[in-house]
Amino acid sequence: MKTQIKFEFQPLPYSYDALEPFIDKMTVEIHYSKHHKAYYDNFINAIKGTEMESMDIKDIFRNISKYPVAVRNNSGGYFNHTFYWENMKAHGRGQPTGKLSDAITKSFTSFDEFKKQFSDAGKTRFGSGWAWLFLDDKGNLFICSTPNQDNPLMDIAEKKGIPLLTMDVWEHAYYLKYQNKRPDYIDAFWNIVNWEEVARRYETALKSLNIK
Ligand code: MN
Repeated sequence: MKTQIKFEFQPLPYSYDALEPFIDKMTVEIHYSKHHKAYYDNFINAIKGTEMESMDIKDIFRNISKYPVAVRNNSGGYFNHTFYWENMKAHGRGQPTGKLSDAITKSFTSFDEFKKQFSDAGKTRFGSGWAWLFLDDKGNLFICSTPNQDNPLMDIAEKKGIPLLTMDVWEHAYYLKYQNKRPDYIDAFWNIVNWEEVARRYETALKSLNIK
């Protein structure tokens, strides 16, 4: 029986201070061990004794409109944060390479233009939410932002797809270091993107869509 450990609170893939100076140690520590952990605990409580306990999280997202709002908020909060931690690393190389690089250039005309559009998605998200780079079911790259803890895998998303890169723009992601200056946090984010992980996700997503 694997249901008991189906949803794990994954370890942070680096130390709390690994993303310094771009994201400070205290922010990462509180964000991971308090905020992310609370979403996880609340998610586990929200699905206790329901069919969701044995479902794949992506199937939960595909049917999220059927479930209570506590499931929507906390499943998203659980998944989105894990996804966010894993697409960052110390000394990100700053640029994608290979197939992903070609696809970004083709979709957005240049890497700089992609960065601008993704940054703008984060800057203009009113209130709390997330910026995303994702792939639609035809294999095209898109940028969007979602409110609260929503994501492009959810059936309620304006445009749906497979996420490749995300950035948390909730105040708790940057306030201790950047206060109200969300754009400064967004500029700093580009120094710590784990492009190898984003490229791996891109390859996996293409395969799942049977696109070469
Ligand atoms: Mn967060």
